[in-house]
Formats: sequence, structure tokens, C-alpha cells
Amino acid sequence: MLGVDLGTTSTKAVLFTKNGTVVAHHTVEYPLFTPTPSTAEQNPAEIYQAVLTTIQETIRKSAIAPKDLLCVSFSAAMHSVIAVDAYGTPLTNCITWADNRSTKWAEKITEEWNGHDIYMRTGTPIHPMSPLCKLRWLKEEQSDIFTKAHKFISIKEYVFYQLFNQFAVDYSIASATGLLNLKNLDWDEEALAVAGVKREQLSHIVPTTHYFKGLNPDLAKQLGILPSTPFVVGANDGVLSNLGVNAIDPGVVAVTIGTSGAIRTVTDRPVTDPKGRIFCYALTEQHWVVGGPVNNGGMTFRWVRDTIASAEVETAKSLGIDPYEVLTKIAERVAPGADGLLFHPYLAGERAPLWNANARGSFFGLSLHHQKEHMIRAVLEGVIFNLYNVLLALEEQIGIPKKIQATGGFARSALWRQMMADIFDQEVTVPESFESSCLGAAILGLYALKEIDSLHVVSDMVGSTHTHQPIQENVEIYRELTPIYLRVSRKLSEEYNAIAAFQRKMLG
Ligand code: ADP
Repeated sequence: MLGVDLGTTSTKAVLFTKNGTVVAHHTVEYPLFTPTPSTAEQNPAEIYQAVLTTIQETIRKSAIAPKDLLCVSFSAAMHSVIAVDAYGTPLTNCITWADNRSTKWAEKITEEWNGHDIYMRTGTPIHPMSPLCKLRWLKEEQSDIFTKAHKFISIKEYVFYQLFNQFAVDYSIASATGLLNLKNLDWDEEALAVAGVKREQLSHIVPTTHYFKGLNPDLAKQLGILPSTPFVVGANDGVLSNLGVNAIDPGVVAVTIGTSGAIRTVTDRPVTDPKGRIFCYALTEQHWVVGGPVNNGGMTFRWVRDTIASAEVETAKSLGIDPYEVLTKIAERVAPGADGLLFHPYLAGERAPLWNANARGSFFGLSLHHQKEHMIRAVLEGVIFNLYNVLLALEEQIGIPKKIQATGGFARSALWRQMMADIFDQEVTVPESFESSCLGAAILGLYALKEIDSLHVVSDMVGSTHTHQPIQENVEIYRELTPIYLRVSRKLSEEYNAIAAFQRKMLG
């Protein structure tokens, strides 16, 4: 099975055997255009070309016989919007999840247009990432393009239109538009009205297991596959990543900390949060993924590396050691809890659990006793405290997790992994992971073709590399600090808008 993931920095294709072994892979990167601080766009044609190249190159490297390719199955980043004309020609670039130009409209929808009820039915938090807000922004602020548009589609729909000349959106991508009612899996009339679009302007909704066949023979030849190869529409990258890291059983929670971070778990029904802190997206009609995305994951550690720790980084470089390893060693000199220094990691505003773009970072509890090593440790702990706060919101809906599967760049550090086990007071396991969204797509492809009757086959495919048990004396320290961390974060929330407004005035 060939799993293809359309990401924000690159498209990746990975060819797997039926038991999940990687045979070959290929990645093509492309730029994100950010001409203004709030713009984040990509060129759809460039992404389509990347899809073709990654498929062609992976097939070529693997030397697989075309008849042995079971399917090509897709994963894609959520929340993208492209306005197209009746021929599928783009009238805009691909406006990605990271584009914040609809901030004002997100606020208006929340405050004046019944945003909370819409979230409760659609599962997508009202935020500028959401196509719901992006469409309203387009209507109001780019009205000439908006009125010319025949349809509004995501990047995966664009790719499928190029391949099969049909506008189709899977439940999973649709459920992350903020326009799909989770209960009846149909467009939500009130959300459509708020977005300012008619249902005819959106694609036909299909299950994530839906597939197309009958690729143009010349194109199939170019790719090195048969025209009859099924192309499974697949799902979004978040839900497929849960599948790909073997976090599919009830009670298993996947935590990822890369540059940003996320916590997600699978449920058998749609779940939304009366306090609006978590998302809910479809994987299949029987599997839903609930969780929260956080902006401030490893980027806060990168900030430490690039600002307050420049001297240590220079030393590490001259010794040929990874600077992150040196910094983690320095943090290890300090006891858990950093002698009472707390760090709120909101350097990039925050999505879950605060959903406040104006949130800002802070150290709390600083005294003359505290040294740089305390600050480094507090930053690492702050990232985990913040994710724990999201986990608490999730626990209100789904109960206490029975297992944590942790992935991402942070998992390279034994200290950081142990912190998670201690702050969460849970066993933390690091699954083997290589392009988990591609693996998730490939497994969904097997399921779509009825080669397997359950997604749980993944548990035989994904082993684990590290396991950490909570250390009781550390757990007790963090148990004392967690409530302080949470209270301070709540108290500061009243001041975030003021300080962010000041920063905007000074910095533009
Ligand atoms: P991305 O989300 O961009 O794919 P990664 O998953 O590679 O990125 O995560 C990058 C982050 O992982 C870095 O910002 C850093 O915080 C963290 N990281 C990378 N290497 C280490 C390490 N050796 N020890 C601790 N943290 C690390």
C-alpha cells in the first residue's frame, strides 16, 4: 500500500508491505508563502506536482511490479481552502491552517453569530484556522474572488479533481472545515449561512474509505502504476497519525511534541466540550478523534537554544554534540519542579487549552536562587504542564487514559519523556514511528479494500522503543505545582490582551 501525506512543508509517499514494513519512500518539499505575518499560503499546482513526483519516485525506488500495488491512500493537512472556478482552476492559492487573516471574523462568529453552538455541532473550534472563518473572511474582504468562485475545496480535493475530475471531500477533512454536522455527517445549515456559502459550492461528501479507479492511462504509465489501481480518499493527517502510532483503542492517548504539539484519542462517537477546549474530527463513521492542538511544543525549547543559551550552544557545536542534548543535561542538574520556578509556554499565542492568540509566555516564581539551568528545566516542564491541562479537558469527556503513546522530536530526550510520565502520572510509551500519517493512510486503504476488517491490525505493525513509569516522589512534587500552574495561567488570562496590544503597538 502506498500512503501519501500532503503536509504543510512537504508531501511524503511511503510504500508499505501488508504487515507495515517500509519498502521505499520519497519526500518533496515546497515553500509556504508568508508575505505578511498573518498570511500562510501554498501553490496548489506545486503540491499536485509533488504528489505525482513522490508516487513516481517511491514506485521507482521500490521496483514493485505495478500489479502488486494494492492501493494509493491519502492523508492531508486539515483546514485548507482554495477557491476554484467551474474547471477546477484555482482563483486563490491554497490558504493553509496557519493563515490568520480571518481572526476578526472568528471573533465576530464567536461573539455575535452563535459560534459556540456551531462548534458544539461541528467539532471544529471557532478559530482563524477553520475554513468556516476563512470563507467568511473571503466573502467580506476578497469579494471579487468570492463571487467568481464555483467551489471552495481543500488541497486533497484539488489533487483528486486533477486525478479523477470529481469534486469529493471525505468525512474527515469535511469535519475539520467547521461546516459539517458531526451527528448526521451533512453540511450544517447555520454554519453554511455564517460562512456565506451554499452547499453546491462545496464538494460531494464521501466516506474516508471511498476510492476512485480509472486513472488516465498515460498518467498511470508515467507514475509506474496500473490505471485500475484504487485511489482511496483517506482522511486528515491528525486522525491518521493516531492510527499510525497505534493509538486507536479506547483510552489510548497519543501525545506529539514536535515544533508544536497535540493530544488526541479515538472515541466511537462524536464528542464536543461545553467549554470549547477540544476538537472532534472523523476518522471513519465509527471512529472519531478528539483532542487539542497546542502551538507551543518544541519551539519553546528551540527559543531557549537560540536566545538564553547561546553560549552553551556554541560549546556544544565546537564539541560536535547536539545542542539540545547539552541543554537537557544542564536541566538535569536541577530537581523536578525547578525549585519552584514555573514557565507558561505561550510564546506563540495558544490554541488548546486557552484558544487565545494573545496569550504570552512568562516565568513565575523567579528568585535570586534561580539560575539558567532552572529556567531551562522550567521551560521543558512548562510545555508538559500545558499539555497536561489539555489532557484534563479531554479527561472530562473521555475519562482517565489507560495508556500514553508519545511521539515527536521531544521523545529524543529521556529527561523530557520522564517529565511527561511524572506530570501526567501515567506510563508513557514511545511507539516506533516513521511517517505515522502515511502508515495510517495505508492501513485505512487496506480497510477500504476489505483486506482487513478492523483498524486494530496496527497493533501488530507498531512496536515501541522506550517506556517510562512515573517516579512517585516526582509525581508528588508535580502534584503540588500543577494547581499553582493552572491558577496562575487563569489569572494571567485577564492581562494577555493588554500585553499583546502593547506589543503590537510597539512592534507593529
Ligand atoms: P517538526 O514538528 O517540525 O516535525 P520535530 O518532531 O523534529 O519537528 O521536533 C522538533 C523539536 O524537537 C525541536 O524544536 C526540539 O524542541 C525537540 N528536540 C529535537 N531534538 C531534541 C533532543 N535531542 N532533545 C530534546 N528535544 C529535542
